[in-house]
This record gives sequence, structure tokens and C-alpha cells, in this order.
Amino acid sequence: QAKDAGRNTVCFYDPNIQAEINRRAELEGELRTAIEHQELRLFYQLQYDQEARPVGAEALLRWQHPQRGLVSPADFIPLAEETGLIITMGEWVLVTACELLAQWQEDEQTRDLQLAVNVSAKQFRQPKFVEMVLQILQQTGARADQLKLELTESAVLEDIEQAIQKMQQLRGQGVTFAMDDFGTGYSSLQYLKRLPLDQIKIDQSFVRDIVADPDDAVIIRTIIAMGQALSIEVIAEGVETAEQRDLLLSYGCLRYQGYLFARPRPISECMMLLKTE
Ligand code: C2E
Ligand code: MG
Ligand code: MG
Ligand code: MG
Repeated sequence: QAKDAGRNTVCFYDPNIQAEINRRAELEGELRTAIEHQELRLFYQLQYDQEARPVGAEALLRWQHPQRGLVSPADFIPLAEETGLIITMGEWVLVTACELLAQWQEDEQTRDLQLAVNVSAKQFRQPKFVEMVLQILQQTGARADQLKLELTESAVLEDIEQAIQKMQQLRGQGVTFAMDDFGTGYSSLQYLKRLPLDQIKIDQSFVRDIVADPDDAVIIRTIIAMGQALSIEVIAEGVETAEQRDLLLSYGCLRYQGYLFARPRPISECMMLLKTE
């Protein structure tokens, strides 16, 4: 079997592992051409305040695969990070999001909405990250204060001094920053105090069990208290039920994102939703 595969092929005898290796190799090849074949899409999920008014949206990447259909980022972002493809993909995301922001300025309904864009750790650590963002803002005519960059703890903690410097440079131009999936990493008051953050996103794993699990409720209350103490806005991710929203509100959380309010959608549907609100 190994011989048949040819000289340059390493062949494992566990058919499951081999199948997985083949699948990944295939996916990687396809991912490489996804951008030039224009298969990437951005979906948008609206974010709301305590009176259920839309205050912004998060851009979420999708891959419209010719055979596989709509592929979720969980299935290709890790691969994109390993292969470095995330750099060009991330740039495409930023350009596309900023083009939308430029359009949003034309419309009274969208003029003051913020658009959040996920930035991968590898992308953020690029030496030219700041220049790239500033150049895209200039090229597209997007307003910097409408752009919010979502970072994860892993993106900033490896070199916190570098991270602070980059964030301050962009913040000086009006760009804002959110800490995504907060509570799942090495969250500590120590770094939270030092990072120039505008928003903390409570990870959906805590929100999911907020009603049933007292521990998660305590964690959420602590995050909200930390945010208040440091004047950092707190938004809850993955809000699916009215009960969760009510509890969050009673704890002082004033920003929400989740299926209860709106699912991630193509921009046309998102705009329709905004018009009816
Ligand atoms: P994230 O940034 O934490 O995004 C929130 C995820 O929660 C999204 O998953 C969203 O669809 C999902 N979600 C929103 N509301 C609910 C809800 O009420 N219930 C549940 N169960 N889920 C909800 P999605 O779109 O599959 O994205 C997964 C992750 O992929 C994102 O997590 C983010 O880490 C990454 N990602 C997405 N787009 C990009 C991108 O453009 N660049 C980078 N680097 N990463 C991205
Ligand atoms: Mg995010
Ligand atoms: Mg998140
Ligand atoms: Mg996540």
C-alpha cells in the first residue's frame, strides 16, 4: 500500500489518520485558491443595547465552497493560521469590512454603528499590522472610529509591550479594541489594567449556563464588575434566551450579541433587519 502511493509519500497505516491527512491536504489546497476564486464571504451579526437598539455588528467569515457549501470558520481558520494563509485572508476581511463602513456613512441608519472585525494572533503580530490597517482605512475611506478590532488573549499576551504599542498607535487614530472570548484564557486584572481596551466580550460558554450554573453567573458578575471598575464596556456573546438577557441586564451588562437578537447574515438581510428596527 505504501509502495503504491509513490516514493515521496509518507503513508500511515491507520486509515483514519491517513484519511484525515488527505482531507486536510485537500482543504489546504482549496483554501489557497478561495480568495482568488472569490469564495470568501462576510456575514454580519448585529449587536444591541439594553433597549434592543442596534449599536453595531460583528463581521464573521464564511467560505462558500463550490462542493461543500458554506464552511464555518471553525473548520478552516485553524488551518489558515497554521499555513499562514490567515494573513491574506485577514487582509481581505479588513478591506471588505472597511468598504462596508464607507457605505455606512452614507446612511443615517448606519452612520453611527460600529463594525467589529476579528483579528487572528498571527495577523496582529505582523510587524506591519498597524500600517496595514491605517492604509486600508485610507484606501476605503472608512472612518477609524467605526472600526473595532477584536483580539484574543493569545494575540496580546505573548508580547504585551508590543501589543500595547500597536493598540495605542491605532487608537490614536480612533480605532477601538475588544477582547474576544474573555474568560477562556489567562484573564487577569494585571493585564486587563494595562491594555488599552474599549470592550470585553464575555465568552459564550459562560452565557450558555448562566441560568443553571451559579459558578458561571459569578464569573459573569465578576467580569462585569471588572469592566465597570476599569471603564471598559462589556458585551455578552451567545445570548440565546430572554432569560439569559434578563439575568445579564440585572447584573449590569448593557450590550448583547446572540441568536435571540439576530443571527449572522449576509449584508443584504442585515440591512433589511436594520430598516425594520
Ligand atoms: P467569535 O469571534 O467569538 O464569534 C462569535 C461566534 O459565535 C460566531 O461563530 C457566531 O456565529 C457565534 N454565535 C453568535 N451568537 C450565537 C448564539 O446565540 N449561540 C451560539 N451558539 N453561537 C452564536 P462563527 O461565525 O462560527 O465564528 C467562529 C469563530 O471563528 C469566531 O468566534 C472567531 O474566533 C473566528 N472568526 C470568524 N470570522 C473571523 C475572521 O474574519 N477572522 C478571524 N481571524 N477569525 C474569525
Ligand atoms: Mg469575535
Ligand atoms: Mg467570541
Ligand atoms: Mg470564539
